[in-house]
Amino acid sequence: MNKVKIIKIIHQAVLDKTPEHEILAKLRGMIKNTPDFNIREKRCLYKIVKKAVLLMYYQNGNLYNGQIKQYVTGLNKVEEHKNVREKKFNMTMNMRYNRATQRVFYMCSTHSNPAKDHAEWQGKIYVDRFWREALAYDDVRLKMVAAYIKNHDVKTVQEICGAPVYLLTRPYCKHFFISLDTVEVLGSSINKIKKNHPEAVVHTHNINYRKKYYQIRRRIHSVLNMTTEAEADTILINRQK
Ligand SMILES: [Zn+2]
Repeated sequence: MNKVKIIKIIHQAVLDKTPEHEILAKLRGMIKNTPDFNIREKRCLYKIVKKAVLLMYYQNGNLYNGQIKQYVTGLNKVEEHKNVREKKFNMTMNMRYNRATQRVFYMCSTHSNPAKDHAEWQGKIYVDRFWREALAYDDVRLKMVAAYIKNHDVKTVQEICGAPVYLLTRPYCKHFFISLDTVEVLGSSINKIKKNHPEAVVHTHNINYRKKYYQIRRRIHSVLNMTTEAEADTILINRQK
């Protein structure tokens, strides 16, 4: 699924005087066959695309800035919904796998420019909510982990990923967890662990969403032959640096 490609198809269809229902059927088929999205997301995608079709047919193949913004924002939201869903799924699978090897601790990544309300939660150690089950047959370790959790006031991965913090699971959150060896956690300070895992530190975290939006808008303006608008977008893109 490609935002600009869809606009291109609709624009061409208007120029070719293709009947509206034909192009809607074509786009519905395209969305239906995309493997990346689930049914709910596909329904949202089609709703947004259908609106763009109706507007463009009504406006002789044009789409105005406010409408482009709505369209891009709408599609971005669905994409991000998909990203979060996949992230959650992968995390769940990883945790399940790690439990089998008694790995129950995780460290959240540290970013140079985190969301304000995620700043205090990054770079910390969290524990799988099911740590007791994972360590059930190892009395010594069970006791050690229990003591560690108590002494360090360790929160669970599951609770920090839920309300109200939504670490990882909030749209556009770039945080991630790395799995830690249980012995490493029990035997080292948090600073030592951080030093041992440079892969959890990300310096160029802040992707410029505004710039990205102007770039998509410029491509759409170009497709629609709106040269003046595309030139204005170029100025805005350069200003984002
Ligand atoms: Zn975050």
